[in-house]
Amino acid sequence: MIRHTFCRTIKQARTLCLAMLALLLMGQTQALAAASINDIRMWTAPDHTRLVFDLSQKINYELFRLHNPERIVLDLKKTRMNAKTSKLELPDPVLLSIRHGKQRSGTTRIVLDVKDGVSPRSFLLKKGNGKPNRLVIDLMPKQKQVVKSKQQQPKIKQHDIIIAVDAGHGGEDPGAIGPHKLYEKKITLGIAKALAKLIDAQPGMKAVLIRKGDYFVKLRNRVKKVRAAGADMMISIHADSVKQHHVKGASVYTLSESGATPDRVAAALAAKENASDLVGGVMPEQEVSDPFIRNILGDMAKRDGLDSSEMFANLVLGQLKNGFPVKYGKPKHARFAVLTALEIPSVLVEVDYISNPERERLLNTPSHQQNLAKAMFNATKTYFTRLGRLKKHEQRIHTVHRGESLWSIAKTYGVSVSSILKLNGLKQQALKVGQRLRLPQS
Ligand SMILES: [Zn+2]
Repeated sequence: MIRHTFCRTIKQARTLCLAMLALLLMGQTQALAAASINDIRMWTAPDHTRLVFDLSQKINYELFRLHNPERIVLDLKKTRMNAKTSKLELPDPVLLSIRHGKQRSGTTRIVLDVKDGVSPRSFLLKKGNGKPNRLVIDLMPKQKQVVKSKQQQPKIKQHDIIIAVDAGHGGEDPGAIGPHKLYEKKITLGIAKALAKLIDAQPGMKAVLIRKGDYFVKLRNRVKKVRAAGADMMISIHADSVKQHHVKGASVYTLSESGATPDRVAAALAAKENASDLVGGVMPEQEVSDPFIRNILGDMAKRDGLDSSEMFANLVLGQLKNGFPVKYGKPKHARFAVLTALEIPSVLVEVDYISNPERERLLNTPSHQQNLAKAMFNATKTYFTRLGRLKKHEQRIHTVHRGESLWSIAKTYGVSVSSILKLNGLKQQALKVGQRLRLPQS
């Protein structure tokens, strides 16, 4: 009896040993199949610098800080480095340099030399939306930002009409990509900057650019920025893409009311635009406590926002019809996350189809971007003139910047050189930096 039990125990132990050996072998195979770091990108935003590492598979990593000098160290377990860190344009406002080395354990150690007071945040993004597994490191300069935003505030006069201009996508999120590899994020920024310039030259109006460079701003932060700016209106600029390359034309969208018949085309587009956060990279748990999207269409005060959005959307379409192909003649509606600043008129303009090679070429030209901006600007002017908030014939003023000529200024505002000369009583074309020029109505 005792012997029998003993035998059984031996048998069990042997099975257990074999199982353990198998597990050990499996572990070893996994150790051999190291993940590779295939690419690295850097995006410099005003409030942080983002580093993104493309990974061949999910990894484990550790992050820690070292002081004197300030460093942030990343240990990427069981990885090998295939990316070139030398391609990054350094130093950046927070990141001074980057170096890496392989450790005996198979860990790739990446050392970031950073400025004093920089705080890091890091997270992994799962594969999806055409992007591989990624490791995201955000480096944030804490103190500086507060001082800066305080300095920026007095520039806006209290009675100015503030227009929030939102260039779609940016940074990790390229948006739609044209057949010749033109990125939506590039042309939306070009048009947004041109529009902001036109708005700023209009007395009584002031533009706030929600994104100023090639970096990602998550959708809800865009809404927050619109609100923080105290904006009276929001225009979000995008370019659409479809499989059929011949499709062209602009369309204008507003937020749909709850209970309205869903528009399937618009809903599909909204889903595509709302996926921006997944591509651009938002730390997953960050989203949970954010109240904006859940308050969508919450109260009666927002009702007026919807009506005025519709009115403004029609004005934009009317302007676009003058010089551009238009895909849908009436405003369309869907639940766009970026349009949730509902108490003000908010529209999303898809200026054209970047998937159409001919339109893609046009969208990339500054003059075409300028003309699109002009159409949107005219619509804002009409809107606020109708509301009685903007005087009809108020003079526009342009302050001359370095590198500008009378010719370039005339082109920007769509007026002639001779009309500027005449209005300002100028006899010669030479300009001084800081000189204020009155501009004729175009
Ligand atoms: Zn877009």
